[in-house]
Amino acid sequence: MNSFAPKILLLFSLLFVLVSCKKDDDGASNDPTAENKKALGRSAEDLLNEAPYSNLIIEIAHTPATRPTEQTLSSLEQFLEARLNKPGGVSIVETNIGFPTGSPYTTDEIRDIEDANRTQFTEDGTIAVFVLFIDGQSNNDTDTSVTLGTAYRNTSIVIYQQTLQTLIANNPASSLEVLESTTVQHEFGHLLGLVNILEDDIHDNHEDPSNGRHCVVENCLMYFEANNIQRSVLQRFLQSRSNVPQLDPLCIEDLQAKGGL
Ligand SMILES: [Zn+2]
Ligand SMILES: [Zn+2]
Repeated sequence: MNSFAPKILLLFSLLFVLVSCKKDDDGASNDPTAENKKALGRSAEDLLNEAPYSNLIIEIAHTPATRPTEQTLSSLEQFLEARLNKPGGVSIVETNIGFPTGSPYTTDEIRDIEDANRTQFTEDGTIAVFVLFIDGQSNNDTDTSVTLGTAYRNTSIVIYQQTLQTLIANNPASSLEVLESTTVQHEFGHLLGLVNILEDDIHDNHEDPSNGRHCVVENCLMYFEANNIQRSVLQRFLQSRSNVPQLDPLCIEDLQAKGGL
């Protein structure tokens, strides 16, 4: 009698735990977008490795006025094919998002635009990345600094394309393709965990102490700061660059340590 009640209680508790777990599992599998709503860096290994996703699909979302150049899209594909172990290949789909209003944008507003427009999600053997070329600027822009792009979720990037287009219009000798490619490849580097995003890189001695999550090597793709770059630094970049910066050997070693090529 006095041991019966605890047993019943234990049985009910077990049942309750089982029911709760079942509910959680169902909740996760019912949301097809859950895999794409994690923190920055969380999908670095899934993006770099052959398993569990052997294919990568990149959704390029843009307005009629902010489509990136063909050369930017093909050089992004080449950049990723050289570093990611995806035997099924890298493919690009485009989504026209019409004319959202609300510039300058906060990152929360960018998330809302993604949630309303994204069509490609990670499933089966394919991991999906969303790159939004938005017709507007970041609300972090000031007279002295400007944001070109931000990697804001595990598989999400925004490029402030109107800002890029304005910079090129004011510096006609520079190349929109080089600026677009540098910005989008740099932000992709953050999705791949560069530099030391999750504080688990084996070569973390190349993280720039004065510019966290970036690389100390001056000619590296990850040295260039796309998020809150000083306008004076950007001016020098626009005047001096005729090609896209490459990843230096230390950043490549970090990617290889996580399954990249
Ligand atoms: Zn950056
Ligand atoms: Zn580097």
